[in-house]
Amino acid sequence: MFEETIRQLNNLGSTHKIAVPIEADEESYLDKECPSENCLFQFKIHAEDWANLFKDEAVFCPLCRHEANSNSWWTTEQREHAKEQSVKQIEGIIDESLRKDARRFNRNWHRDSFDQMSLEVKGVRKRRTMIPATAKEAMELKIVCEKCGARFSVIGSAFFCPCCGHNSVERTFDDSIKKVRVKLDNINVIKNALEEIGEKNGAEITCRSLIETSLSDCIVAFQRLAEQLFSKISNAPVAPLNVFQRIDDGNGLWQTVCDKSYEDWLTIEELKDLKVFFQKRHLLLHSEGIVDQRYLDRSRDESYKIGQRIVVKEDEVRYLSNLIEKLANGIREASSNA
Ligand SMILES: [Zn+2]
Ligand SMILES: [Zn+2]
Repeated sequence: MFEETIRQLNNLGSTHKIAVPIEADEESYLDKECPSENCLFQFKIHAEDWANLFKDEAVFCPLCRHEANSNSWWTTEQREHAKEQSVKQIEGIIDESLRKDARRFNRNWHRDSFDQMSLEVKGVRKRRTMIPATAKEAMELKIVCEKCGARFSVIGSAFFCPCCGHNSVERTFDDSIKKVRVKLDNINVIKNALEEIGEKNGAEITCRSLIETSLSDCIVAFQRLAEQLFSKISNAPVAPLNVFQRIDDGNGLWQTVCDKSYEDWLTIEELKDLKVFFQKRHLLLHSEGIVDQRYLDRSRDESYKIGQRIVVKEDEVRYLSNLIEKLANGIREASSNA
């Protein structure tokens, strides 16, 4: 009596494949999500590159560099949508089979038998056309991998190319400086929001911490860029550990390989200020910002006495980010000519 329904159910169990289409956004980018439980970062990949450049066996997360095959990157929303559509599709198949079985049953029933009996399938016929998963709004930050040319987009920042896993040192540096400026730009917004809910202490502590970590971020970003660019110069000596944290030592190294120095890119005054910033970072990192003799000797900063705590202002960090950028542009050019 339920031959057709049973046949379709068997089919579903073995051969039937349900494909749910995924739409690209208006700029032809597809939504993706990192499958690592710790990350779940959402980003986009240009549909053409996804089809032509990406390899089935390995795709990388732009944020954490988790590696998985190309079938693992559906977003939570796409998976939910596919589940919903599949259930509807299966309901539709079963509904149709039940109707067929009912029609056959009614045709074959002996009308002259003792009792009249007919089978009817009630309910609305389920729609069988698949609704594609809609794409999320386009993301502003578009990135083209300098190594493989893959196009992808993210919100915020990205460290790795999803196609080849390459980490762009220069883009990472640019992102770090951008992050510092974004933090500084939002200090007042954060401060006001916290004060509004009566968190005056929280506002003060949070904002001071944002400014101080931004100072460190600038210097770490520079150090990392310098290390990477320096190591790429052919015949360059191996740079001692953390040498680019120390202005004079780092400067000496650049002079030996490219005949250029920090004095070529910064004024004497700027270089002096930069030394003070580097020493302030050292204090924040190693003595909670409390001034010691070493700081006074190395920075020649006469505005503090031993035992005081340094004060870092938003404008100062903004100025530091400009100095670091100038210096970075200098070493970028010098290292590409070396
Ligand atoms: Zn990830
Ligand atoms: Zn790449």
